[in-house]
Amino acid sequence: MDFELNEEQTMVRNMVKEFVEKEVRPIAREDDRTERFPWDIIEKMAPLGLLGAPIPPEYGGMGLDYLSYAICIEEIGRASFSLRSIVSSHTSLAEQTILKWGNEAQKQKFLPRMTRGEFLGCFATTEPNVGSDVASIETTATLTRGEWVLNGTKMFITNGGVAGVALVFAQTDKGKGYRGLSCFLVERGMPGFSSKAIHGKMGLRSSNTAELIFEDCCVPRENVLGEVGRGFNVAMTAFDNARMCVAAGCVGLAQACIDASTNYAKTRIQFGKPIGSFQLVQELLADMIVETEAARFLVYRAAHLKNKGNPATIETSMAKYYASEVAFRAANNAIQLHGGWGYLDDYPLERYLRDSKVATLLEGTSQIHKLLIGRAATGINAFV
Ligand SMILES: Cc1cc2nc3c(=O)[nH]c(=O)nc-3n(C[C@H](O)[C@H](O)[C@H](O)COP(=O)(O)OP(=O)(O)OC[C@H]3O[C@@H](n4cnc5c(N)ncnc54)[C@H](O)[C@@H]3O)c2cc1C
Repeated sequence: MDFELNEEQTMVRNMVKEFVEKEVRPIAREDDRTERFPWDIIEKMAPLGLLGAPIPPEYGGMGLDYLSYAICIEEIGRASFSLRSIVSSHTSLAEQTILKWGNEAQKQKFLPRMTRGEFLGCFATTEPNVGSDVASIETTATLTRGEWVLNGTKMFITNGGVAGVALVFAQTDKGKGYRGLSCFLVERGMPGFSSKAIHGKMGLRSSNTAELIFEDCCVPRENVLGEVGRGFNVAMTAFDNARMCVAAGCVGLAQACIDASTNYAKTRIQFGKPIGSFQLVQELLADMIVETEAARFLVYRAAHLKNKGNPATIETSMAKYYASEVAFRAANNAIQLHGGWGYLDDYPLERYLRDSKVATLLEGTSQIHKLLIGRAATGINAFV
């Protein structure tokens, strides 16, 4: 085992860190307050390769390995979890899924324009009545006069109101359960496709979350991603990539809590001493540091396995489950350490707490990941 980052990984970390410190951190609070979608930041990310970091250069990406990509996301998550969420949906859920399942024509049509930032991607499984139980998707797609006609509603879709292409999952053969699911590349402007912004979120306020509505939406046959009936497999590979991304972003968010707390512990004076000299304050810090480092190693191990081409679904589940819970605990500890000041948005801690909560809900809730890990250990499937 090698715990050192190589030259490329160190370079990537430094490049992203410099970018987010200069461009993202200074505006993150205001963007959160005003729910501003950061188009200007996204425009600046494209020439740096950050809108297609793991996508091969022939499609305009940087061709980074999984570990280098996780490091990029860790640094983005350290400055803004909203931006992490935008990038993750675009890259891990949309681009990487097109790369894995698309035919050459689909890859050529979508990937170069997406890596250049001409439009964003989004991914839609969740519906008003369907969340964790993806196999029960109610949106339907019916083949009519040579085109697929989609009807249904998707809920909570990140980038849903701003994306140029949506990976939409629908039932093409209801009687077949999860074997009846298919994935469609639905492009903005296709008749019968509309979106409605969702406001009032607890966190991720500068990311865009929307409802997608399909009313007799006609999608050409060439926009089926993967084979008809393979949608469940398409979704699972997308989750595998996106969970890694959530986990890496959570490590970054937890690290941001440590950075802020270490600084505050050294400078805040009570009882004539820096509060960092009190052992109960050191305990808060120690818990954050140990748990964050453990989460980081889980993420890096999963990325390392994926780099080697080994199956890493359960290792990714462990990383996502643990890192998201750690980020939430770290944000809570960081507020505790900052006392009343941590409760104000003059400091970023209350945003970190609100933003970290969602990581325990999306890309599989913590409960779902425990079931996946338990199933791998026992061979007993709780989902049937
Ligand atoms: C800000 C935000 C962004 C999102 N972005 C996207 C996106 O881009 N694309 C997308 O498709 N979705 C997205 N989602 C949806 C997200 O993936 C779902 O919220 C999540 O999958 C959980 O589904 P649900 O909310 O319907 O909860 P449910 O599945 O209804 O679960 C409710 C509760 O029951 C528990 N539960 C469910 N089944 C079991 C079980 N078998 N055993 C034990 N406990 C169980 C859950 O853990 C949870 O605690 C987003 C959500 C949010 C909040």
